[in-house]
Amino acid sequence: MQSRAHQLHREGRRIAFVPTMGFLHTGHLSLMRIARERGDILVISIFVNPTQFAPGEDFEAYPRDMPRDLGLAESVGTDIVFTPDNEMMYAEGFQTYVSPENLSRGMCGKSRPIFFRGVATVVTKLFNIVRPDIAVFGEKDYQQLVIIRRMVRDLDFGIEIVGGPTVRENDGLAMSSRNAYLRPDQRAAALSLYQALQLSRTLVKAGERQADKIIAAAKRHIASFDGTAIDYVVIVDPETLDDMTVVDRPARMALAVKVGATRLIDNMALGEDLADRPA
Ligand code: AMP
Repeated sequence: MQSRAHQLHREGRRIAFVPTMGFLHTGHLSLMRIARERGDILVISIFVNPTQFAPGEDFEAYPRDMPRDLGLAESVGTDIVFTPDNEMMYAEGFQTYVSPENLSRGMCGKSRPIFFRGVATVVTKLFNIVRPDIAVFGEKDYQQLVIIRRMVRDLDFGIEIVGGPTVRENDGLAMSSRNAYLRPDQRAAALSLYQALQLSRTLVKAGERQADKIIAAAKRHIASFDGTAIDYVVIVDPETLDDMTVVDRPARMALAVKVGATRLIDNMALGEDLADRPA
């Protein structure tokens, strides 16, 4: 892959890259279409990265379907699908990691302390192998997108990072490979994440500015469904991911909720129409 990338660069082609863990859905395909537009050669990777899963998380159970994924990748005009295996990515003696600091401490980093180190490390490796000019990541994983942007700046990767909007099912549930874990009777509870975000947007539009009040209303809504366990609900600065107490400028609401054994995340912009920085 790396020598192919060098060759493509010598031919003057721009490589656009979408890293994934496979079990592709319309959300992934939307990122591929964005990448397709922005580059000459579309490369995707499919790799369920063991270093971002803690013991007891769903690494083994994570859904996989390579033949189907290859068909879907082809359907959106993917030129190269890079599918390394664990031994190739983490050879005997592997010991060098990329560790994001502050941005990875809150939100998902609280309950998944090694997660972003695993993500930053594998994305670094994939960038070094695929040598993209641009790479597209979903806003669905908002903290990840912010961390990758920061890492690319901090470590001078010289890669343009593009965020793609969250693609949802008709009812609003954010598409996720992990939705495959949900039983039909858990679907209503899973939808509470989207509803809580919508409810919060409505509150901000109606003039509510106190983050704690908005968060409390969102939590009440989610908790009213059987089988939900809230991991976090936060309103943060869209760039620093610091908690905001007053929504007087654009903000991001993000949440993580367990529905049965399945951990779901979602996020949405709040207060986009408010002045960016108050005078
Ligand atoms: P994953 O395979 O879950 O690691 O995701 C690969 C990429 O697809 C990441 O950049 C995700 O943020 C993105 N992604 C996942 N779900 C969605 C979605 N519903 N809409 C848009 N992008 C998504």
